[in-house]
Amino acid sequence: MNEKGLMYNYINGEWRTSAAAESLEVLNPANAETLTCVPLSPVNEVEQAAQAALRAYQEWKRVPVVKRIQPLFKLRALLEEHVDELSRLIVLESGKTFEEAKGEIVRAIENVEVACGMPTLMQGDFSEDISTGIDEFMIRQPVGVAACICPFNFPGMIAFWFFPYAVAAGNTYIVKPSERVPMTMQRVFELIDQCGFPKGVINLVNGSRQTVNAILDHPDIRAISFVGSTSVAKYVYARAAANGKRAQCQGGAKNPVIIMPDADMETSVRILADSVYGCAGQRCAAVSLGVMVGDAEKPFLEAFTEVSRTRTVGFGLDKDVQMGPLISAASRDRIEGLIARGVAEGATLHLDGRRPVVKGYEKGYFIKPTILTHVSPNSELAKTELFGPVFSIMHADSLDEAIRQINTNSYGNMACIFTSSGASARKFRNEVEAGDIGVNIGIAAPMAFFPFSGWKDSFFGTQHAQSKDAVDFFTQKKVVVERWPKDWTRKF
Ligand code: NAD
Repeated sequence: MNEKGLMYNYINGEWRTSAAAESLEVLNPANAETLTCVPLSPVNEVEQAAQAALRAYQEWKRVPVVKRIQPLFKLRALLEEHVDELSRLIVLESGKTFEEAKGEIVRAIENVEVACGMPTLMQGDFSEDISTGIDEFMIRQPVGVAACICPFNFPGMIAFWFFPYAVAAGNTYIVKPSERVPMTMQRVFELIDQCGFPKGVINLVNGSRQTVNAILDHPDIRAISFVGSTSVAKYVYARAAANGKRAQCQGGAKNPVIIMPDADMETSVRILADSVYGCAGQRCAAVSLGVMVGDAEKPFLEAFTEVSRTRTVGFGLDKDVQMGPLISAASRDRIEGLIARGVAEGATLHLDGRRPVVKGYEKGYFIKPTILTHVSPNSELAKTELFGPVFSIMHADSLDEAIRQINTNSYGNMACIFTSSGASARKFRNEVEAGDIGVNIGIAAPMAFFPFSGWKDSFFGTQHAQSKDAVDFFTQKKVVVERWPKDWTRKF
């Protein structure tokens, strides 16, 4: 924080105080206390970052790839060294538990490790003698200046789905964190500052809507990665495309799970409680909709209600806390409203976690685990992303009916099945319209060496985050057809 109590931007290798006319308070969602203030950086500060990144790009793209990855090795070591400190910051500003926060830094590190493979990842292709004496080859070159726009729910991880690959491939970069959780990325940039990247290669600009629009409209920013809600993802995708940029935009989710009667109920309940309630349901891969097939509901619901009722809720740095608060009062109020609307639409409120008293954190934005049964597949509850610790339960007579029900959903981020039948699992993974599939897994979030792949309204674009998809996104292919006739040399 600077003397004005504001977070800094990091532009051209230096910390800069924003001249923003507006700022927002960043609150600890467990007790509503102010942690810091974030500037809503104006257009000219995005301009400064884009210019710095463009200048740096002219040199950086010529640095051999084996040298470009050296600062990333340093960053990996520094992240390892600071895992606990970064995790505490994540807990403070986002509300998740310490172990959950640590998990996201581990995935961030994994992305740095994969990006360090860029010398082989960005190799081209070569065909000799495509015609007599003529060779053809494809080389990959960086795109230019790229930027990411991040959501609140993983303050330490999501930028790492993109920038390590981008800079390793020779691009330069601008990170725009969520204005609700800017502290973790600022600390990450203090580590980046020690890694030896040349000035301007990686920049940090804080802000919200106006800052995003300035990024989307800036002619020197060539590639946009967005992660957030579907409505903003669609908007960002359209505006980036209208400005001639490549874009990959990951949106919201409504992740279903099918419970077959032959599932191992004890294991399913244990795994799914972590999926539904982990990060208070604020994970893009959190399961929020259960389809109970045949007579699966009774044994599943009995055990699931018990683990839900007894889940310890509180501040994520306190001992034995299993679930933290929602990100904001607005988010809590919205979810409570959707629960009430679900009941009005005919659902049964089986376990009501609204407005709990959490001792010592009475001002926090908590909802305890909540379960609704008899949810209709056509209800708002079944279709809308709640992004909270709420599990809605539907019924189907057969696997076919359950798959039909979940495929009517407009989202397609992740879907899971719990079964002991290989045939059911195979049919499920073949027919379900989602990018990430879990078979007896509750959070099928891909490792960094696989693409993070939503479908339908959960993703707009072609190349996903992470892995070889990131290499494709951050490089442009150039194909050369070449002839060197022997007798030409005699002429000179
Ligand atoms: P959000 O869409 O409100 O905000 C995301 C980013 O967009 C922020 O940086 C914000 O500053 C910016 N933004 C918000 N409104 C804008 C507007 N009108 N114009 C321009 N920019 C705007 O999302 P959030 O609430 O921070 O994050 C939660 C959402 O993210 C959930 O829907 C969740 O499912 C989704 N998410 C998806 C994935 C995935 O991989 N698909 C991963 C994480 C989160």
